[in-house]
Amino acid sequence: MTQTAASIEIKNPIKSLAYTYVISLSIIALLSIIVHFMLDKVIAEQSATGKVVNISGQQRMLSQRSSLFAMEYLMLGTEQAKTYALNALDKMQQNHTWLLEPHYQALNNGEKSPLSPTLLKMYFEEPLNVNAKIKLFSRQINDALQNPSETDLISQIKSGFLVLAEEPLLYALNEVVGLYERESVEKVNKLRFAQNVVLGIIILTIIFEALLVFRPMVDKISQFAYKLQYDANVDHLTGLLNRRALNLQAEKVVAASLRYKRTLGVVIFDIDLFKTINDTYGHAAGDLAIKHVSALLRENSRTSDFVARFGGEEFVMLLPETDSEGCFHVAENIRKQIKNTPFKFEDKSIDLAISAGVAMFKPQHSDIEEPLRLADEALYQSKQNGRNLVTIYQENS
Ligand code: GH3
Ligand code: MG
Ligand code: MG
Repeated sequence: MTQTAASIEIKNPIKSLAYTYVISLSIIALLSIIVHFMLDKVIAEQSATGKVVNISGQQRMLSQRSSLFAMEYLMLGTEQAKTYALNALDKMQQNHTWLLEPHYQALNNGEKSPLSPTLLKMYFEEPLNVNAKIKLFSRQINDALQNPSETDLISQIKSGFLVLAEEPLLYALNEVVGLYERESVEKVNKLRFAQNVVLGIIILTIIFEALLVFRPMVDKISQFAYKLQYDANVDHLTGLLNRRALNLQAEKVVAASLRYKRTLGVVIFDIDLFKTINDTYGHAAGDLAIKHVSALLRENSRTSDFVARFGGEEFVMLLPETDSEGCFHVAENIRKQIKNTPFKFEDKSIDLAISAGVAMFKPQHSDIEEPLRLADEALYQSKQNGRNLVTIYQENS
């Protein structure tokens, strides 16, 4: 850990994180809404152009149907055929009006025609001139059906609507349908392309946000959580566990000790005549003495042990899987080292001594409180017997 928890300073973290989060999500939401509307437009465009292609396709069939029934009527005089021919013609004209309606509407409003220039050429200019051909075809069929003349029937048919229906009109209508189809595919492809571009932007935005917003945000939150946890569990002067953290660890160690029938030792240390150090050299020297003792405690503990500053110049060590002799040995080592290692304060070398009390956790103890109390009694014995001592709690003492 390069950065100490104490140096992490986060100003109003929740507010700034919430802002970043809301802004990032809003961008994604906005882009998603755009894609949604584009998809809507693609679907609408597809169904609209689908209808246009279908109706313009119908025109081919209607032209053939009306000329076929017109011929039947002219040759056989069937009234039914005349009705069919007129109906088909009527439908064809309606379709024609419907297809050109957007064009005429735009012209009336002085706007640009929604039909493409190529399509307009097909409708209104030679060689195809579909509009003129449909009008001519309608007139010829109507004339033939209204005034059937027996004598020049053949020439009427040969020079009239049948010729038109057989080739030029059919060809022209075919061209129009083909163009409608191509234009519809083009339009939908353009929309699809735009939609894919926006989708790409969304994916890039999400990647950027993941890298530049969410990852730093998660880092910040974890730093903040670490700082909170650190502050809640660690004593600031010494870096040892505080009383609260030791109690939490004790619960786990006690549970393991009960379940696996492992021994668990408790040692309480208290610096001897600490008040004198404070009084003689000042509070700063007292603090340094506490740090000096903490360092020695830490050096003499195993990774499975727990060392805490319990308050003031009092320390507690929990030693899992250690019997009372082992605990005594550890405490004695520490006592000797403290006695033999005066600590430096300014240019002075100050002697220190420490007393300790050892007690064992027993299955009948429900938690760590009882062995702590017993260790404290043993510590009291050490003080009573002249200090600079380690005492193991004896039941009959
Ligand atoms: P004994 O041998 O009986 O333990 O004598 P003692 O002088 O150590 O007695 P006691 O435990 O009552 O004294 C503890 C003193 O430690 C009292 C308090 O002013 C001082 N103290 C508590 N916390 C701190 C601290 O964080 N820094 C400093 N410098 N002094 C502290
Ligand atoms: Mg003391
Ligand atoms: Mg004390």
